[in-house]
Amino acid sequence: MHVLILPGDGIGPEISTAVRQALEALNTQFALGLRLSECRVGLAALEHDGTTWPDAAEEAVRAADMTILGPVDSAAYPPPTEGGVNPSATMRIRFDLYANMRPSRVLPGVPALASGMDLLVARENTEGFYADRNMHAGTGEFMATEDVALAVRKITRRGSERIARAAFAAARNRRRKVTVVHKSNVLKHTDGLFERTAYGVAAEWPDVEVDDVHVDAAAALLVREPGRFDVLLCTNMFGDILSNLAAELSGGLGLGGSINAGDNVAVAQAAHGSAPDIAGRDIANPAALLFSTAQLLAWKGEREQNRALVEASRTLERTVETLLAAPETRTADLGGPLGTRAFADRVVTGLLA
Ligand code: NAD
Repeated sequence: MHVLILPGDGIGPEISTAVRQALEALNTQFALGLRLSECRVGLAALEHDGTTWPDAAEEAVRAADMTILGPVDSAAYPPPTEGGVNPSATMRIRFDLYANMRPSRVLPGVPALASGMDLLVARENTEGFYADRNMHAGTGEFMATEDVALAVRKITRRGSERIARAAFAAARNRRRKVTVVHKSNVLKHTDGLFERTAYGVAAEWPDVEVDDVHVDAAAALLVREPGRFDVLLCTNMFGDILSNLAAELSGGLGLGGSINAGDNVAVAQAAHGSAPDIAGRDIANPAALLFSTAQLLAWKGEREQNRALVEASRTLERTVETLLAAPETRTADLGGPLGTRAFADRVVTGLLA
């Protein structure tokens, strides 16, 4: 089984190295038969290949069984005409990775702003307010005059249906509750369609409870009463924002894992960005990308009924959680003494124990 790692920008190479070491250890422990390879994307690729998303990267993703994408510093990229192409957005579009599944849980022993939180944000990933993926040709963001900027938000019945199905399927294996997040009191047509479609899908899952909240209320309730949520079903940008809020409430952005999943392809990707402010200093927390990797192994293992992959996923998650639970084996963002490399070494030691 071929696992492709795209290290990305900023802290991406540092936290991707941690993931690579963990996968090598899991390979040994569980005889997974994984073959690991890497491909340049982002600013390193721009320098060598003239683009942040070389054809070789897209071909490598197509050929791989699983892909792990490090964070990318897309805000620092030049315009597309000069080779700046956002790998994260491009993969979501090209491989139709419509479901961005972002769990957030208060972990045992980890200092957190929230208590009793264990939720999953199911975020639509291919339309919504992300205007770069909304048009057949051109972009949905444009300027009418020098002083007037417009962006088109796209919501479709098909897009809403498939993320709703992913949310309800996930809820079935959790506490069986889906909360539809929307702003249909203002965005009557777009969020109205999203909300109606979600309730239509809910009828197919009578054993899963459903309710809905406005997105602004959802933000307040996440802080006030996070335990009331199980699965939050969200459009693209609302899900992006609420999942970062949830990650921070659970202890920090360095803990927020996620996968981007389509019907046949999934990509592990931390919820956080490339953290240029701490890049190259060996202080980034690799936990989010490690948790994302665990999610990816579980996704693949469950689809292919490969018990070793599912077991490897659980072991990776438990090992990282055990380290995070003890103050002396945490990274600096959580007040601990370990650097990225030292944390990765502890993960490997834990996996091989
Ligand atoms: P960011 O998530 O990179 O950083 C926000 C804050 O969280 C920073 O203080 C950073 O140091 C900290 N942080 C993030 N990850 C951390 C980790 N693993 N360990 C410790 N601290 C961590 O957000 P930003 O600064 O707004 O964005 C930087 C770049 O990342 C931009 O180019 C943005 O477009 C891009 N971005 C990429 C992704 C992605 O690849 N999925 C997601 C969000 C932002």
